[in-house]
Amino acid sequence: MITEIIKIKTAEDTAGIKTAAEILKNGGLVAIPTETVYGLAANAFDENAVKNIFIAKGRPQDNPLIVHISSVEEIYDLVEEVPEKAMKLFEKFSPGPLTVILKKSEKISDTVSAGLDTVAVRMPANKIASAIIKEAGVPLAAPSANLSGSPSPTCFKYVFDDMNTRIDAIVDGGESEVGLESTVITLAKDVPTVLRPGGITVEQLREVLGEVEIDSGILKNIEADFTPASPGMKYKHYAPKADVIILRGSFESFKEYVSKNSDEHTAVLCFDNEGEEMNLPFVTMGDKNSPDEQGQRLFTALRQIDETGAKTVYARCPSQTGIGLAVCNRLFRAAAFRIIEI
Ligand code: AMP
Ligand code: MG
Repeated sequence: MITEIIKIKTAEDTAGIKTAAEILKNGGLVAIPTETVYGLAANAFDENAVKNIFIAKGRPQDNPLIVHISSVEEIYDLVEEVPEKAMKLFEKFSPGPLTVILKKSEKISDTVSAGLDTVAVRMPANKIASAIIKEAGVPLAAPSANLSGSPSPTCFKYVFDDMNTRIDAIVDGGESEVGLESTVITLAKDVPTVLRPGGITVEQLREVLGEVEIDSGILKNIEADFTPASPGMKYKHYAPKADVIILRGSFESFKEYVSKNSDEHTAVLCFDNEGEEMNLPFVTMGDKNSPDEQGQRLFTALRQIDETGAKTVYARCPSQTGIGLAVCNRLFRAAAFRIIEI
């Protein structure tokens, strides 16, 4: 398949928006920019198109998709009812990096929901994404636009590396500002529960909803015989080809551990201004004290690690406060939960 590249600079580029929307209306797959990461979109009401998303990504069939809308009214087609808590969340955080899980309507196929009786809904803030949804006139089912298992793409180049020849088109629309996937919260349980941390923090959610639980799988390894609330949490995710090992402790002990345990196939994933002290190939994940910057940088850093050709990568451990919880969640998964206390 020849993958069309659609360059769109702003949401006012109506020709580009129309081209992308037309392909989606005709049942095609288009990768689109969003503020979290690039999404691989299809008409959520076209079951055949949605099935093709799973094929293009190599995504396990039991991992449901997020449905993207461009205005709150569109949600009534997707869900059984909109509880007051959902309305509060949409008022406060939409458009933006928050996905809300609710009981699904019968218009949502089992392919989108992976057989669950719920659906995940998000309204992206990215203006190009929003304009494409509006122009297509249908909600768009869209997981991240990477091959299943590899880091989510935050720019056109990484989408192209994974998806060229596998999908109908890729919109080249700049970099994702947040750089991590959306926060996922379910309202289909008695107490609202965060299933995946992201750009909207647990603290922000508690301010609006009061009690909010954090799913126990977020930082813990998921055992093979345990059914997680969010199917996506059981897969090894975001993994570079190298083995990533997180060393939790001070930079001094990090340097000492690495110097004793490295060879010519070792690289490090560190914070700004640390790599220069290491005598090894290094990739930085931003300022030590800026979880926002670490969020923006992490997935790019994970892809750059493979460009070093390293077999083992020792990583510094970010702080877990605020958006840092999301950064740790992704990094711990990339490391398959290999964490050494130093
Ligand atoms: P992705 O779009 O690739 O970032 O993945 C979407 C994430 O949301 C995955 O971790 C899914 O398992 C999760 N998800 C989507 N729909 C549901 C749902 N109905 N219930 C629980 N988790 C969901
Ligand atoms: Mg994904």
